[in-house]
Amino acid sequence: MLSSVLLRDALELLFVIAVGGMVVSAIRKLRRGEIKVIRCEECGRPTSNAYPICKHCGAPRPTDSV
Ligand SMILES: [Zn+2]
Repeated sequence: MLSSVLLRDALELLFVIAVGGMVVSAIRKLRRGEIKVIRCEECGRPTSNAYPICKHCGAPRPTDSV
């Protein structure tokens, strides 16, 4: 009983650390300019390198960063 509670707490703690670490590393990359914010040429809103088209208006993402 007690050990299962401890296990759950430990897993939650690990999860929080993992997510926190991901967020911190993403912020560090962003600060170093490794992640560039790509702005859609059509609608001007920020989109992502992960998508070939704008999430907002569907226009093709500018490819000058590749
Ligand atoms: Zn767009």
